[in-house]
Amino acid sequence: MGTGTPNPLQAGPRRRASLVALVFLAGLAAGACRSSAPPAEPPAVARTVPEGLARAADGEVQWRHEWVRGAVFYEVFVRSFADSDGDGIGDLPGLVAHLDDLNDGDPATGRDLGVDALWLMPVFASPSYHGYDVTDYEAIEPDYGAEDDFERLLAEAHRRGIRVIVDLVLNHTSSEHPWFREAASSPASPRRDWYVWRPDDPGWTQPWGGTNPTWHPLPSSPGGAFYYGIFWGGMPDLNYRNPAVLTEMERIADLWLDRGVDGFRLDATRHLVADGPGALQNDTPETHAVLEAFAAHVRRRHPEAVLVGENWTDTATIATYFGSTERIAGGDELPMSFDFPLAEAILEAVKGGVAEPVATTLAEVERLYPPGVIDAPFLTNHDQVRLATQLGGDPVRLRLAASILLTLPGAPFLYYGEEIGLPNGPGGGDDRLKRTPMPWNGEEPGHGFTRGKPWFPFVVAGPEVSVAAQRDVPGSLLARYRELIRLRHASEALGKGEIEVLDTGEPALLAYLRRAGDETVLVAHELGASPVAATLTVPGTVLLTESPEPLLADPGAKLRARDGALEIALPPGATGIWRLQ
Ligand code: CA
Repeated sequence: MGTGTPNPLQAGPRRRASLVALVFLAGLAAGACRSSAPPAEPPAVARTVPEGLARAADGEVQWRHEWVRGAVFYEVFVRSFADSDGDGIGDLPGLVAHLDDLNDGDPATGRDLGVDALWLMPVFASPSYHGYDVTDYEAIEPDYGAEDDFERLLAEAHRRGIRVIVDLVLNHTSSEHPWFREAASSPASPRRDWYVWRPDDPGWTQPWGGTNPTWHPLPSSPGGAFYYGIFWGGMPDLNYRNPAVLTEMERIADLWLDRGVDGFRLDATRHLVADGPGALQNDTPETHAVLEAFAAHVRRRHPEAVLVGENWTDTATIATYFGSTERIAGGDELPMSFDFPLAEAILEAVKGGVAEPVATTLAEVERLYPPGVIDAPFLTNHDQVRLATQLGGDPVRLRLAASILLTLPGAPFLYYGEEIGLPNGPGGGDDRLKRTPMPWNGEEPGHGFTRGKPWFPFVVAGPEVSVAAQRDVPGSLLARYRELIRLRHASEALGKGEIEVLDTGEPALLAYLRRAGDETVLVAHELGASPVAATLTVPGTVLLTESPEPLLADPGAKLRARDGALEIALPPGATGIWRLQ
């Protein structure tokens, strides 16, 4: 959402589970041969599915998400990414001009970040700066460019092997959308039932707390009509009890998928159908039914398209949004949801120097998610205080957070600027402070973002907080992100494998195995302030070589095998990644 949804996870303590070894998210690629060679030339993104390939034996269309598992996504706020024409507003041609920074499509080059996919925050016409209140689902926001600029972005991204998903706001429109204007014009309007109405205000408030109302008086009908809008009066909720609304959204989804987008990030998915006050505005059976129907429609038409839901809640509830994996591998509802509890756990672990929050949350994911689904871990997004601010700009903790995120199973999401340690703007309460222009270089006044006046001020951070200042600096945060993404691509285990968290006996030592086929990789992070030395017992039948192959080892990180166990030593704040076999 674009309005600063409060974090419902802060409401209660996380359930604690014992630190146990665990296995989850068995990779689809188990058994596939591994290669330590550099990844092959990325294929141009295939747009067509050969007839019949996507159908299972029973005729049910299956997802084709091989490309998703292990992929690294990058969240872009177009308004703040790069301005091509000097009006101070980031735009699609500006993004195209920087695609080579994100992934130049050539595995032999080493200066690009190397991400596999982009998530564009809303790019449809909207009166707001953030775009989460749409006025035309079929048109590109004019601030961002013309329709053919979007076609060019897709073509240029796909040429580099980068997929593109776009934000689709199903839950609500802008109150300025022609549908709502028509619906509000008269109780007899044929569009009236596209929104949710009552003659009175039942006094409901937002389910995440506070006193903000979710029913709003229609100004043109004072005292006579109230409409439902869970976020605010400028965002009236669509009425999914009216089948015509879902049919229209399916048509819009087809339109963009036919134009070439690779899927959607779906906003506020747990609020689609409200059924009463308080918590009855979340996670209703009708909401699940709408998502299942929408997903089935997308899967039948575009089985390679991915859907990522914003279900900002606990692990057990997120797990329900995958639906069933009995007939549809990966889930017959949303095939991905952002892992908010894991994001919070990584931050807690890195801030507190303790491994337990991450180990516990991964154990819950293993226990509660259906088998074989794809997790969507991340650190922060556009609704959260930026990582660098939460970690006080500490370069060691920033590196640790990245090193954890990019060695987890699933498809990790980065938020633009995170890779250079961009902090929030000063102050609080203004969501734009989390969404400030990208500093490409240190050159005043435009920082490589614009040659004009930026739409919102730059964050005044250190001279090292820009792409240019870090790109060619070994040991920079950007270099660490780049290195981790390349490792993920070069290792089947790191990219697509299962995870097994190890009981290290050391509270600050987070260690896990990633396995796929005959490849096993050990990942270890010392989160505390002191050096650690520990002996790790590796479960299963790993054939330990005496000197495991280091894939990434911070200075002082050491590992050797002795007597069937692993002796590890890590300085404080260090990460080590070794291929065991
Ligand atoms: Ca512009």
